[in-house]
Amino acid sequence: MLKPFGLNELRETFLTFFEEKGHLRLPSFPLIPQNDASLLLIGSGMAPMKPWFTGEQEPPRKRVCTCQKSVRTVDIDSVGKTARHASYFEMLGNFSFGDYFKKEAIKWCWEFLTERLGIDENLLYPSVYFEDEEALNIWKDDIGIDPERIVKLGKEDNFWDHGSGPCGPCSEVYFDRGAAHDCGKPDCFPGCDCDRYVEIWNNVFTQYNNDGAGNYSELSQKNIDTGMGLERLACVCQGVGSIFEVDTIVSVINKVSEISGISYKEADSSDVSIRIITDHTRAATMMICDGILPSNEGRGYVLRRLLRRAARHGRLLGIDRLFLVDICDVVIGLNNNAYPDLIEKSDFIKRCINTEEENFGKTINAGLSMLSDLIDELKATGKSMLSGEDAFKLYDTYGFPLDLTVDILTEHDKTVDTDSFEKHMEEQRVRARKARESLGDLAWAGIDLGLDNIPTIFTGHEETSSTGVVLAIVKQGEICSALGKGEEGIVVLDKTPFYAEMGGQSADFGTVTKGDVIFNVSGVQVNKGDKYLHSGKMLSGELKVDDPVDAKIDESRRDAIKRAHTATHLMHKALRSVLGDHVNQAGSLVEPDKLRFDFTHFSALSKDEIADVEKRVNTAILEGFEVTAKETPIEEAKKLGAAALFGEKYGDIVRVVTMGDSVEFCGGTHLENTAKTGAFTILSESSIASGVRRIEAVTGFATLELLSSSRKHLSELAEMLKAGTPEELHGKLEQNMLIVRELRSKLDSALSKEADDEARRVLAEARDIGGLKVITTIIKGAAFDNEKLRQIEDTLREWEAGVVAVLATVKDDKITIMAACGKTAIEKGVKAGELIREVTKTCGGSGGGKPEFAMGGGKDVSKLQDALNAVDTFVKDFTKK
Ligand code: ATP
Ligand code: MG
Repeated sequence: MLKPFGLNELRETFLTFFEEKGHLRLPSFPLIPQNDASLLLIGSGMAPMKPWFTGEQEPPRKRVCTCQKSVRTVDIDSVGKTARHASYFEMLGNFSFGDYFKKEAIKWCWEFLTERLGIDENLLYPSVYFEDEEALNIWKDDIGIDPERIVKLGKEDNFWDHGSGPCGPCSEVYFDRGAAHDCGKPDCFPGCDCDRYVEIWNNVFTQYNNDGAGNYSELSQKNIDTGMGLERLACVCQGVGSIFEVDTIVSVINKVSEISGISYKEADSSDVSIRIITDHTRAATMMICDGILPSNEGRGYVLRRLLRRAARHGRLLGIDRLFLVDICDVVIGLNNNAYPDLIEKSDFIKRCINTEEENFGKTINAGLSMLSDLIDELKATGKSMLSGEDAFKLYDTYGFPLDLTVDILTEHDKTVDTDSFEKHMEEQRVRARKARESLGDLAWAGIDLGLDNIPTIFTGHEETSSTGVVLAIVKQGEICSALGKGEEGIVVLDKTPFYAEMGGQSADFGTVTKGDVIFNVSGVQVNKGDKYLHSGKMLSGELKVDDPVDAKIDESRRDAIKRAHTATHLMHKALRSVLGDHVNQAGSLVEPDKLRFDFTHFSALSKDEIADVEKRVNTAILEGFEVTAKETPIEEAKKLGAAALFGEKYGDIVRVVTMGDSVEFCGGTHLENTAKTGAFTILSESSIASGVRRIEAVTGFATLELLSSSRKHLSELAEMLKAGTPEELHGKLEQNMLIVRELRSKLDSALSKEADDEARRVLAEARDIGGLKVITTIIKGAAFDNEKLRQIEDTLREWEAGVVAVLATVKDDKITIMAACGKTAIEKGVKAGELIREVTKTCGGSGGGKPEFAMGGGKDVSKLQDALNAVDTFVKDFTKK
């Protein structure tokens, strides 16, 4: 009988066991690989310890043990389908760096499983690499396992090798879950892919070095790297059928069942969905906790994919609300003892999950219905593959990611023509490029200026005017030698102080002159040959190639651009301080005293957050920090902690702009001191894409203009309201609102009295037909609008149970008719809905409604009286019966 170990207890038992064997216990490394660009996510205990295995770095001790958070993207598709795969799991491991080797590793592995945990040794099967006699003998002689029970496996299963570097044979331990799980194949034995024999522990003996060409040499330092899935171990110890039923995970399963109202083990397909939701929410929670945010690339995309799959499987179970946070809550509750930062970050994690789920819901509904039509069509026509064109349409119009389409089709045993999908994607890329080119790129960059070896020298960081020479002139897309008065074109200079539109910063404007010859510059671009192309119009004289010229920028425009650019850096820094380090620049536009900044963040900023950002920027401005720019090698800049744009390529030498504690890579122009920015004001904050926010703000004179225009606006309002000063506006408005409320209530009661009077008047004129009171009246007067008519009808019905009232008004030759029937009238069979149809028909219209009240209209005013006369006949039909 096994001791019933809980998952949390097992983790502790393992770590203590190896501590007793002289190991140093380390906490789990984060899921984001540190200083390792070769990995997307940590997927094993050894992955973060690579430098200790290669000898690149000294480990803190030669024996180490951990319980490592792991995410394996390759297993995502198996999740829910097998009993043993999760995308997120914890890996227990004991490691030796040139210390103990096979003998101790195998001995302790066996001791832990059979003695410490008390697992029946008859259910355990070791495996070895078929050429590893040493390991085989240890299992046989030292542990005393019957050789019949030791499985020899080939390179694919039992040799750990990553192409180059340390590698070696493995020895695993399989657990037999019993004949009930047998796949039925005659060779079903440990190592089989089915769910009978589950690999629980893998011992890797890193004893060789692979030179990259497949030549193996013995390592001087031999290492032990072991890995055992905590969930799989718990599954075995608790005697449950799958990792999803171990104590901690089953609570998550139960929550999904509770929310969906579908009990686990009800139907195979819903079980898969329940397991996927459970697993993916666990993974997402841990990933976000470690600083990963949903995005369209890299690990952010893995996270997004997991969350979207979980959300979609929720829909498959019929859950029609945002529910992932509720699951996440349970995950946090079960894991916060081992990972306390889950508590600290729980609000953040939940907000992130909720936003992602919400955004997914918005974009996906339309796509899902189109896809389900397409699947029906496939089924009807007996086809098994969705065309690339359809998959692309889903992607292009509904933002439906290809992997989701593939996922859904797989559920229906169908495939997607992904090659053709890729072809469509490529075609779209080409189309987009062509469109860009036709929009002007060609004019700027495509023309062979014949001078591509001489880049323009940019002097704009040092001076505002420079002397240079005209290298080329372009007129209407053609190279030419001169530009005359009134003509528009492009002038290329060898040297220029004009900043070209780049990195979000707008271009400088100004003039290129030679004596009386003036070319007005209203745009600057830099082409692929790094030549500066000044576009504009000749104001006077004629400019020719080779002319010596003075190029001078509009300094006040440049100053205003600098203010906005310096403020952009300060705001970037403030956003990171207020919202967190996940904030990254996603786009930027810097114009004179005006800026637009896009950044990654998953939810709208609160009023307080906006006010906080604004205050921090203004404080940094008033501090009067000196702004310095320095060119340094990129490595050095990174050490300074300079904020680089993710995915952006930089040269070896970069320009680093520093102000206070803001340090950024930047080629733009800046103030010398932050104080020159003037006042900074945020105008708006909005969403531009899922996970990307946009802030628009102003600086310098634009803030002053804003201030003075709002002041003017307030004064005008104060004058309109006779408030004296803007300060008195509030009190004045309150007073006026009070008066309006009082007047409205007086008016209401006056109008309702009027309606009562009218009701009384028409009731007095009612005709008695078989005990019912029939009224047909054309009500005159503009005050009786539809609402008033209705009020009279309601009053009549309330006062007189036997009433049948048809009231009409005429306005601009249009007839409105309302009919009401009291309780007694309805009992006799007179229904307003039918009556109104009869009446309106006669005057060229239509209408309808309920037995007690109905409404309609007509066009033929000359027939109105006839129509009303028909009421009596209509009523008589019923009263006779
Ligand atoms: P399998 O063949 O079952 O996928 P593996 O060969 O990929 O396993 P290893 O790479 O040797 O597994 O990882 C070491 C240990 O980590 C395994 O013995 C197992 O206990 C655990 N493990 C691996 N993948 C998963 C997973 N997706 N979910 C849970 N535990 C896992
Ligand atoms: Mg695997």
